[in-house]
Formats: sequence, structure tokens, C-alpha cells
Amino acid sequence: MLFSTEPKTSLDELFDREAEIERFRSGLNERLVLVLGIRRVGKSSLVLSVLNSLGIDYVFIDVRKLYDNVSRKVPAERIYNELRMSLGNLSFWEGVRRIIDEIDVSLGPIRFRLSASRIRDGIAKILEAINNAGKHVVLVFDEAQYLRYSTIGLRPLLAYAYDHLRNITLVLTGNEVGLLHDFLGLDDPSSGLYGRYYHVIELRPFDRERSIEFLRRGFRELGINVDDRVIERAVDELGGIAGWLVYFGRLYPERGEDAINEVKEIGANLVRSELEELFSRSQYYRYIMEAVAVLGKARWSDVMKYLMARMGERPTNATLSRDLNNLVKMGFLTKDGDWYGIPDPIVRYAVLR
Ligand code: ADP
Ligand code: MG
Repeated sequence: MLFSTEPKTSLDELFDREAEIERFRSGLNERLVLVLGIRRVGKSSLVLSVLNSLGIDYVFIDVRKLYDNVSRKVPAERIYNELRMSLGNLSFWEGVRRIIDEIDVSLGPIRFRLSASRIRDGIAKILEAINNAGKHVVLVFDEAQYLRYSTIGLRPLLAYAYDHLRNITLVLTGNEVGLLHDFLGLDDPSSGLYGRYYHVIELRPFDRERSIEFLRRGFRELGINVDDRVIERAVDELGGIAGWLVYFGRLYPERGEDAINEVKEIGANLVRSELEELFSRSQYYRYIMEAVAVLGKARWSDVMKYLMARMGERPTNATLSRDLNNLVKMGFLTKDGDWYGIPDPIVRYAVLR
């Protein structure tokens, strides 16, 4: 069903994205694939649908799920456990079971806190065992920007897999595109992944026409007739991010046109926790986001003027530039020439509310 709120898991359910499907498929012959795009745009859906359609072996690790809100870390033993648990789905699981059991035993019960190097070693051994089984396996780290919070350095491990484990293709999805890039260090000479080729699939929100078609098709599936005017208004206010269109589609049968406002309210509540987390990291983020939200789009100097008026304080030029740059890296802002904008209308609404 088009309006299901979970990530899609089969190509029959996936709307549009033909070019991205094709590009992702061809990327699977490479060593490293990055699937990039803002939150709720459809990264997990694309990855899962294509992998399932090919019937190849894959391991899918949602890194965000492993993040510990209290310590603000991703504990390495969680990564080990998650990887370990997902191996049961491999078609050749029985063939590697004995080797993996031995790795488990050598590490001992994971609840006895192990040293970073032993956990890293354990993960490396698991990856080697998978690789040596001789079948192509796709290893997906979903929301991989969270790997930078890992309690052990994972970059060397990924670089090792890239260079030596030829049966494993790494797929990393990310909504904080710039941060993922920094974490991997693809342009950083000190990184083990420096200068390595990688295949990128960038997912953008649907354009207006596609978004309208998305809603029409979803309502047709439900056998509900919805006025074109309402569909167009929904798209104009909610934008082309699949996640928000799905929400609207689900709420419409009960709430009618009010569903548009409800998606904005519910959506704003959902993004609020993301924003609060964000705002706790720099004193200027809140007002920078506010400046761009109020102005619709804004240049560096517009934001500076806004901050001075709103905060009665002037950050240094370097601070403002750094914070703007970070917001772009995290996907909360886009930069087009000199102009900053907010790509997600619900984020804009949440900031203004
Ligand atoms: P992301 O991983 O980028 O955050 P998801 O894949 O979880 O996004 O998608 C968010 C929501 O939008 C889910 O409800 C999903 O089913 C829906 N969705 C995303 N892309 C598509 C698509 N191409 N066709 C149909 N539904 C989609
Ligand atoms: Mg996702």
C-alpha cells in the first residue's frame, strides 16, 4: 500500500524512482555506495526494495536504533550484536555458523565490557567469515552518519572491508550528508578511505507533479475520491517528501482537508525533538533556522542582521559561517548560490510555530 508508514520493501510498492533504482542496482557492483537525502525522502525504501527484488544476500543495520540517548554514543557492542543477529537471514548461514560461533566464544559474553580492540577484532572476523563464504553480500548501514558516535573507530574497519573483502559491497545511507562525508573522510588524506571511488545516489523530494501523482495513486488504491484542489493544496503546503505525503494520505479518510493542518502539527512535533537536539549543539542554530524560516530564503548578511536584532548580539563572522555550513551539512538548510533555504516545509513550519 502506497500510504503505509514503514519503509517500502518491494519494488511493486515503490513509487517512481526509476532512475535511482537503476543507479543503485549498478552501484551494487562497486565497493562503496552512498544513498543520500534528507529525512523521510525514501532512502531506506529504495535500498530495501531493490535488494529484495534482486534476491541477493544482505545485512541491514539501522545505526540510529543503536544510538544511546543518555551517553550520546553508539556502543560498539551494540553494533557487534546487531550484526551478529542479522546473520541468520543469510542464505549461507548454516555454512558459516560454526566459524561465527567460534568468534562468539572467543569474545565471551558480550555483557562483560570488552575492550575496543577486541570488539573491533570481532566485527572484522565476522566480516571476513561472510566474505570467505564466497557469495556476494551487501552490508547496509542505514543512517550511517550515526557511526561517528561509535565508541570505537570504525573508519579503519570500513577501509579494510573496502580494500580486502571483495565479496562485500558497503552501502551507507545518510540524511546528514555532509557529516557522513566527513566521517568517511573520502577527501581526507589521513583517512583509510581517502581517494577511494564511491557510487552516489542522491534522492530528492518529488517535484510538484510527481507529488500530486503520488497522492492520486494512493487514494485510488484506497478507492477514495479526493478533490484535485485539496490534493494540490496538500502538495503546496507539505512539499514533495514522501514521508509527509504518506501521513496526509493516512489521515485524509478521517479528517478530510483538515488532514493538511494535522500533518503539519504532527510533523512539527516529530521534528521538534530533532530540532531541540540540534539547538542544544550551538547557541546560534535556533536563530539561524528562525531567520531562514521567517525570510523564506536568506543570504549570509540577512542572517547576520536577523541574529543581531533577535539576540542583541553579534557572532563572529567565522562562527556564523561555520554554523551555517554545519546546518547545510546536516541537511537542515540548503545552499543555492548565495541563498540559504529550508528544504523541508514541515521543518520550516516547526521553527516558525
Ligand atoms: P528515509 O529512509 O529517507 O527516512 P523512508 O524510506 O523511511 O525514508 O520513507 C519515508 C516514508 O515514505 C515511508 O512511509 C515510506 O513508505 C514512504 N516512501 C518513501 N519513498 C517512497 C516511494 N518511492 N514510494 C512509496 N512510498 C515511499
Ligand atoms: Mg531511513
